[in-house]
Amino acid sequence: MPGKTLFQKIADREIPADIVYEDELCLCFRDINPGAPTHLLLVPRKPIPRIALAEDDDQALLGHMMTRIAGIAQKEGVSENGFRVVINNGPHGGEAVPHLHIHLLGGRQMQWPPG
Ligand code: 5GP
Repeated sequence: MPGKTLFQKIADREIPADIVYEDELCLCFRDINPGAPTHLLLVPRKPIPRIALAEDDDQALLGHMMTRIAGIAQKEGVSENGFRVVINNGPHGGEAVPHLHIHLLGGRQMQWPPG
């Protein structure tokens, strides 16, 4: 059986993190190396490695996570000016941690296209 992912260890309080939201399906905590004044990671408790490996059975979980974003952004004070939501997938996508996570970035003007 494979070991826990980094984000499972955060969920299980084995590694400290600044958790701003959690429920039975997911949790959200501050990125350790923020790329914006507000930089959060929204993570399913289930260790889906990346969005490309999500399955039909994960529809409700992914929908749940997507519908948590507005409330988290509101609580963080980035709703009014806007924010960006990003999922990195695989090497070209810039994925570093193989446990699905949604980046929520805000607090400054974002550029497009991303680097
Ligand atoms: P990725 O590049 O895989 O899309 O994003 C992984 C993110 O996890 C990066 O933004 C990185 O800063 C963040 N990260 C890596 N290790 C830790 C950690 O131990 N704690 C927290 N809070 N964030 C981490």
